[in-house]
Amino acid sequence: MERAKLGEAERHCAAQGERLTPLRRRVLEILQDAGQPLGAYAILEVLARDDRRRPLPPTVYRALDFLLAQGLAHKIHSQNAFLPCCAIGRVHTAELFVCRRCGVAREVPQDGEVARDERPPGFEVEAVVLEVRGVCGGCREPA
Ligand SMILES: [Zn+2]
Ligand SMILES: [Zn+2]
Repeated sequence: MERAKLGEAERHCAAQGERLTPLRRRVLEILQDAGQPLGAYAILEVLARDDRRRPLPPTVYRALDFLLAQGLAHKIHSQNAFLPCCAIGRVHTAELFVCRRCGVAREVPQDGEVARDERPPGFEVEAVVLEVRGVCGGCREPA
């Protein structure tokens, strides 16, 4: 699904002089297909199903680091999980609404970066992520 997003990611990397290698691309695709945040080991499981040789965890961590550094994905620190960015190439603060019951997260990108104006001198901002924890509409519905 969402091939357009992968194309967007590819163009974004090219513009930065970076390469979206097949593994990086596949990890991003897995995140996009998941519909919910995934931890590194869940990603490894999917990769292992792709072809019989299971990649080593450091390989996946490096791919994830790349996606984070390029702003193609965000990390939910409280869950140690990752989700694809929905506003690739836009300077934004990723506001992540995380449901503590089902674990689903939605990104609402906020224009601008709050920390930019308040950063300590010389501090280079790479990513601003805000976690908003609560219970989603689906989980709040009475059973
Ligand atoms: Zn984002
Ligand atoms: Zn929920």
